[in-house]
Amino acid sequence: MKTFPMFLRMEDRTVVIVGGGEQAAQKCRLILKTEARIVVAAGALEDELAAMHGTGRIVWHEGAIMPALFADTALVFIATGCPGADAALHAMAREAGALVNVVDAPDLCDAITPSIVDRDPVVIAIGTEGTAPVLARQIKTRVEEMLEPRLGDLAALSGRLRGAVARQVPRAGRRDFWRWVFNGAPRQTHARGAEREAAEMLKTAIAAGGAPQEQSGGSVALVGAGAGKRDLITMRGVQRLQEADIIFHDRLIDPDVLEYARRDAERVCVGKAPGAHPWPQDRINGLLVSAARQGKRVVRLKCGDPGVFARGGEEIDALATAGIPCEIVPGVTAACVAAASIGSVLTERGKTDTLVLSTGTCRPGDTPPDVSRSMHAGTTLALYMSVKAAPTIQHDLLAAGHPPSTRVDIVTNADRADMQVVETTLGILGDTVRTDSIANPAIIFIRSDKSARQISTVNAAA
Ligand code: SAH
Repeated sequence: MKTFPMFLRMEDRTVVIVGGGEQAAQKCRLILKTEARIVVAAGALEDELAAMHGTGRIVWHEGAIMPALFADTALVFIATGCPGADAALHAMAREAGALVNVVDAPDLCDAITPSIVDRDPVVIAIGTEGTAPVLARQIKTRVEEMLEPRLGDLAALSGRLRGAVARQVPRAGRRDFWRWVFNGAPRQTHARGAEREAAEMLKTAIAAGGAPQEQSGGSVALVGAGAGKRDLITMRGVQRLQEADIIFHDRLIDPDVLEYARRDAERVCVGKAPGAHPWPQDRINGLLVSAARQGKRVVRLKCGDPGVFARGGEEIDALATAGIPCEIVPGVTAACVAAASIGSVLTERGKTDTLVLSTGTCRPGDTPPDVSRSMHAGTTLALYMSVKAAPTIQHDLLAAGHPPSTRVDIVTNADRADMQVVETTLGILGDTVRTDSIANPAIIFIRSDKSARQISTVNAAA
């Protein structure tokens, strides 16, 4: 290690930033997160620094820069933008005994600012000694995903209760107590926003002399993985995956998303290939119930959103009947992903004011929806599982008076490496699906702008 990570105490200390431009403002923004007093030494301040000075958050040193400015500081940043001046100021600050960082001059830095994940008071610093800043940012993103936004508040709460724990929880039980706080129900409860409830749990356990002994009952989270690549899952979804003892997942999810789960978590694919039903829904429901009854934390991971054409309702009902707690964690549904993948929007002021999510596939024996009933001028129709039904949909919409020139976009494997986009029109939709060999998973967008109202009405009347 050429550099060694340490955390500098900032309360009641001074940080001097020399320079009044954007780079100085950047350092200022960073140090404003700390409790340090900030002195900015510059002849003039750019707008943001001037505003910070205006609100009293920084002290502006306008005068000559003398060694005394740097004495007894926690840290000095030099960012004048002029290499000659930077070097001279660096020498002066070093002479005064300061720890110096000269922006964009690694050779003149005693201290390097890391990439930071901030869950104050939990702070993670990532450094690569300047070798790979992009890698540092990627690691930062992964760590950001791992740690729920409220984690710092839970750490702060724990800090406030440390004294009470030391008094009331016998030494032998303290490690288990803290393990329970950060691994068990309090962390989960806190992460989902029930902070008061989590604080109550801690206080009750402290009063009882330790973490509750009984194994907590199992639970199920229906988690949307997002349709597309793994980074479309929400941070809450990642959190649930990390907590899971067992994961039942669909075939359509990006397999890489499972890397968010613990290494020892069991993974079971209960996906259904189109047309084949190796895992009847009843059996999946039964598996969820029995895993939860064994006290496991279960994740049912579904492509897109668990509440959109995902048979989530049947699973929720089965869990409710069995009295098992169930949480729904939303995901980015395929229509949103597909629209974004082609740089398009689903509704547009003045053109489309209605969004219909529909499907060409339903329960065997049920009549598929007649989409022409929901398609009016000003509608974007996003059709799931509709490749096979495309000729019928074309027929129904044409029969209802929608012009053959109506625009159709088909997005297959949206947001994936093998994404395929086909633009066609309603009049030749069935042919396009056949000649372009379009296969699931695909979203078919059919858009009727408001200006099409005239045409539809005229055709319908005729
Ligand atoms: N719950 C999912 C939908 C599951 S139904 C969601 O909210 O997105 C399965 C259908 O979703 C597929 O037949 C296809 O129509 C659509 N789909 C899922 N992933 C897709 C993708 N990456 N690109 C295009 N369509 C997709």
